[in-house]
Amino acid sequence: MNEIIGENTFYNYGLVSWIGLSIITFIFLIIRKPKTYGRHIIKDTLSINNILGWFLMELPTVILVPYFFLQGSLDYNLVTLSFISLYMMHYINRVFVFPFRIRTRAKRIPLLVVMSAIIFNVFNTYFIAYYFGNLSPNYDISWFYSPYFIIGFILFIVGAYINNQSDTILINLRKDAENGYKVPFGGLFKYVSCPNHLGEIIEWIGFAILSWSLPTFAFALWTIANLLPRAIQHHDWYHNNFEDYPKDRKAVFPYLL
Ligand code: NDP
Repeated sequence: MNEIIGENTFYNYGLVSWIGLSIITFIFLIIRKPKTYGRHIIKDTLSINNILGWFLMELPTVILVPYFFLQGSLDYNLVTLSFISLYMMHYINRVFVFPFRIRTRAKRIPLLVVMSAIIFNVFNTYFIAYYFGNLSPNYDISWFYSPYFIIGFILFIVGAYINNQSDTILINLRKDAENGYKVPFGGLFKYVSCPNHLGEIIEWIGFAILSWSLPTFAFALWTIANLLPRAIQHHDWYHNNFEDYPKDRKAVFPYLL
């Protein structure tokens, strides 16, 4: 792995603290199971419109990538440009497409969740885009033929596909303009309750492998820290709310968990 190099002490200490914080967050979310979003929400918290919330939460990514990456001190490099393009593709969908596809019109999202996600996205984008714009080694074009890139890229694409397919199945459950919940079927729902979260985890693990760098591994770790507890919470919720919920379905990892 390209260890954190260079003389940017602020960045280096920050990244190590960032990784430590992901582990603390994971433990907190697993133990405390906060009821802060979607079906778990506790009413009467300060909140805003759900669609606006999603847009605002993810917006910092597409604004800050050009700032940290394109203004970096390193010369443009086709390989790092491709890493950043993959990151941007994901977030262009999250900012400008996903919020307008979900069917949660009248729903609201707690301001606390929106603020935490904005802070997360600012730091995560800083660590990734600043690294590839200023600190990363000079990846040679042959990186595209390396096992890291090939394996990581396949995982990234497969993960993005699973994530998108599963989100689409969930969104289509509300075709009739209701806001309620149904048991989802199809795709990887055959095996797990939250294939969208599984897909997202695979996607960012793939991204970490294809770029083989510490800030992208930190992001993969954060994704697991955020989504594993969330998937377990959703899974328990399904069992508590649907008597006939498929018994052999796991939470997020087929046959395992
Ligand atoms: P959910 O699975 O909770 O919900 C996705 C959408 O489908 C929501 O609009 C939800 O409505 C609706 N929905 C979910 N289940 C049902 C059901 N059984 N019946 C009807 N509608 C349903 O996903 P999240 O909101 O947690 O995440 C959305 C996307 O963002 C995912 O792709 C996830 O991977 C990604 N994400 C990534 C994170 C990261 O750290 N990288 C962190 C968080 C999310 P409602 O909101 O009303 O419940």
